[in-house]
Amino acid sequence: MPIARLSLRVLGEPAVVEADVPDRPARLDELLPFLRELDNRAIDRAVARTEAAGEKVSCQRGCSTCCRAQPVPVTPVEANALRRLVESLPEPRRTVIRERFEDRVRRLKDAGLADHFLKRAPDLTAESARAIGIQYFRLGLVCPFLDDDACGIYADRPFVCRQYLVTSPAELCADPFTNPVSVIPMPLAPAGATLRFTEPILGEPQHTVPLVLALEFAETHRETLETLVEPKAILPKWIDAIVRPDS
Ligand code: SF4
Repeated sequence: MPIARLSLRVLGEPAVVEADVPDRPARLDELLPFLRELDNRAIDRAVARTEAAGEKVSCQRGCSTCCRAQPVPVTPVEANALRRLVESLPEPRRTVIRERFEDRVRRLKDAGLADHFLKRAPDLTAESARAIGIQYFRLGLVCPFLDDDACGIYADRPFVCRQYLVTSPAELCADPFTNPVSVIPMPLAPAGATLRFTEPILGEPQHTVPLVLALEFAETHRETLETLVEPKAILPKWIDAIVRPDS
């Protein structure tokens, strides 16, 4: 697979992004590796800026509080990548992960919350969304990919997992709805840009779903999410939508 390369400036500093990109018609999720690398470079700069200001990132291996109850919103394209990733796992790992997903989905359905996330109401107020977010958090749905307090899909983790870095004491993350958690501001917002960019390509309204619903959501929307695009034509525009969201 050929390597694509992009030079750009992030927060005033030069950055280089390199990753494999298919040279044939491909699904949108096959372009995610390049966009994750773009996000990684932006996160590097955001962390460097934070540290230069005298603050320290609290997140470290072994601390997995944010993987233990947060909704972890993923875009539909990322959901399809996760569905494919789980399908590609060797046994018995695949069955273990699927069973964890089934357990979380069942608990979410029992709590009456699954439909809200699967069929997002367009007129949902910020207040209602927050109330539902708190209800979700109280369920304590541990991410199915978490093993021994470490991410089992680190290289493939969604944008939101990469971007959620805090400088406040780690123990405050146990209840981010109540505690004053300080999240590092990020220069790019790839998930939001991805929703806006992919909507006309996929021809369906795009909204995030909690990671625990990713497999079910991607299976329901499988045909749409498997749409093939021409990477050479699509990737530059997708990058533009991320680095220049207001243009
Ligand atoms: S994908 Fe990885 S980083 Fe993201 S919530 Fe799950 S275990 Fe945590």
